[in-house]
Order: sequence, then C-alpha cells, then structure tokens
Amino acid sequence: MAEITTGRREAQRWQLAADVLTAYRRNPHASRVRLADGLHLGSGTMSELVGRLLAHELLREAPAPAAGRGRPTTLFRPHSNAPAVIAVDIAAAGWQIGVAGVDGRFTRHGGAAHESYLPAVVLGKVRTAITAELDHLGQRAAGVAVSIAATVQGTLVHSSALGWEAESLESLAVGLPLTLCNDATAAGVAEARRGAARGANVSLHLHVLSGLGGGLCVGGVPTVGATGAASEYGHMPFGDPTLPCECGARGCWLQSVGGVALARAMGADHLSRPEQVTAAWAALGKLEPSAPVPDAVRSQIVALARGTAGLVNGLDPEVVTLGGLAPKLRAAAPKEFDDAYLAGLMRYRRPRPPRVRDGKLGTDAPVLGVVELALDKALNASALALRAARS
Ligand SMILES: [Zn+2]
Repeated sequence: MAEITTGRREAQRWQLAADVLTAYRRNPHASRVRLADGLHLGSGTMSELVGRLLAHELLREAPAPAAGRGRPTTLFRPHSNAPAVIAVDIAAAGWQIGVAGVDGRFTRHGGAAHESYLPAVVLGKVRTAITAELDHLGQRAAGVAVSIAATVQGTLVHSSALGWEAESLESLAVGLPLTLCNDATAAGVAEARRGAARGANVSLHLHVLSGLGGGLCVGGVPTVGATGAASEYGHMPFGDPTLPCECGARGCWLQSVGGVALARAMGADHLSRPEQVTAAWAALGKLEPSAPVPDAVRSQIVALARGTAGLVNGLDPEVVTLGGLAPKLRAAAPKEFDDAYLAGLMRYRRPRPPRVRDGKLGTDAPVLGVVELALDKALNASALALRAARS
C-alpha cells in the first residue's frame, strides 16, 4: 500500500513535467518563456521543471539560430538518452520504419514496397526491421507505434486494402508497449496536433486513398469508439445504394470516392489495390486546370463534398482537413466541391461553415499521428516517474 501511495505521489510530481514535454512536442521551436506562458506556469516553477527534465536526460538545451540583435536564446532538443519510439506505417503499397524521439519528429530508416501481401511475409519483414531498431535503441526504446491501412480492434486488424482478415499484430510489440492506429485516423491526429487543424479543439480529418477513412479529434485525441474501430467513415451509406462493399454492407461512401472507385469509373478495376491508387493519382495529376473535369472525377468530388457536409452536420467540427488524394480531388473542381458542401450543410451552418483545409503533413501524416499516440503513453507522468525511479 505504501508503495502505491509513493508511486502516485511521484506521478503527481511528474505531471507538470509531462505537460511541458507535451507542449514542447506540439511546438518544438518555442522558447522556454513561450512554453511556460502557454501552460500558465510561473518562471520559478518552469525553472524547476526544466531543471528536472535536463537532469533526467529527457531534454537538452541548444542555442537558437541567431535572429537579429538581442539576447541570445536557447531552444530545447531531445537528449540523446531520452526515450524514443519505433514507428512503422503499413500502407497498401508498402511499409516504412523509423524512430521518433521526445520532439515527435519521425526519422525514416527504411521500408519497401510489398512484394507479397501474405500477412506472415509482411509482418515478418516489419518485425525484423523493428528488432533491428530495438537493438540500436536499447534501453531508450519506449514503444512500438504502427499506423496501418486497416480497421483496428485491439491488436487485431481487418484490411481490404491488404486483403487481411483478422490478423494479429501482437508479434510487432517485441516486448514493448504497442500502439496501433488506423492510418487515416492517425493522419487526423497529426493534422490536429501539428498540421492544418492545429489550434482547433474539435477537428475532422478525411483521408482518401484506395478508399476513404478519417477521424474526429477532440483536444488532439481521436475518438476511437468502444472497440477502437470508430471513424470508418468510408463505410457510411453516402454512396450508391446498389453497390455492394467488401465490408458486407451496400452503398458505402468509399464505393463512390477514392482510388478503387476512380479505377472502376475509368474501367481499370482489374488493377490491384495499390495500382488502383497509383492510377487514381496519375489520373488526377493529368488534369489541366483549364480542361473540363471528366464526369467520373466530378462525381467523386461531389460525393466527397456531400459526405463531408453530412459528417459536419453530425459531428460539429471547427475545422475539416483533407489528406491523401482528397486535396487533389477538390482542387480539380473547387467550385463544385464548395457548392455541394454548402448544399449538404444544414441551413444555419451555411453563413459560417467549418473551413475545409488541405492537410499539411503529406504522406508522413499517418506515421506522425501514431507516433503522437505512442509518445502520449511513453511520456505520461507515470512513465516519467517510473523512468526516474529506475535511473
Ligand atoms: Zn463498406
């Protein structure tokens, strides 16, 4: 009992330090004064916290790049002994791996296109790469973060993009805490915390690749539902009700928006999943700004905009961000998008509709998002107290 009490007291002592680390991660170029202001901390408290973070080798101080005259200032950098997470993105076309430290920056170390979609083959290669990263990081390794083009339920994933049915990803944990997240939902976390929705408390992200997914974040935290499988927006019945979906339902939105739908409209539905997405990118890339937009693309833009409006009516976000193919789709016919978006909104929303912004983080958005979720666990007050007790 005494031990539990001590542990809780220690965790409480580390809570503000954890808050400083979170604020730093969201704004790695902020000065000490700005971080303190943002957290409403006095200079004495901030000095104590920073001293502790430096002494425990979580952060180090480095001179800021010179910016004219005035007192030279310092910025924080991750300490070379600070915790880091091994981060993996498993997409429809291939996978990549890297590491991210307490600043949340992802450094890519490798990856490859899928030669085979067999789960044992893909997961075997990824596990080997994770083990190599673990050997390199040693005691610093604080978790494994995986974003995947799949519905995630606990450690089980279901993926029509990869052709996987209820595969377990437990083997990727290699003895570390494992954080799994659907790639589109993870991209939404990254955009909410460090991208186009930064500053919005409630943000909706829509990510179009072979299909369509996304996520709703509140305070940068994704709403994942009772079993972790929420935000499968692509399987909402916003599509053509006559079209069956691999999920078992009919009329799913992703049957009308995304690489698979575009490939079907272009008569290229014989292509494999990653080829369909590549074909969709290529088709969108060939559109000239002044040329008429093909009907197949136009109907996708309208379907995307109408569904976006439906989700805005249902979820009430401050901002909507678009990722994957979605910004390119919208750019092909922005007026059609805006008209369909406004027409789908409830009338009272139309004078001030939530802004729909292009994502800022590009193809790394999913891995950056799952890194954030893994670091939330690795750097929370209890984890910091435990690490301090062991050192
Ligand atoms: Zn479906």
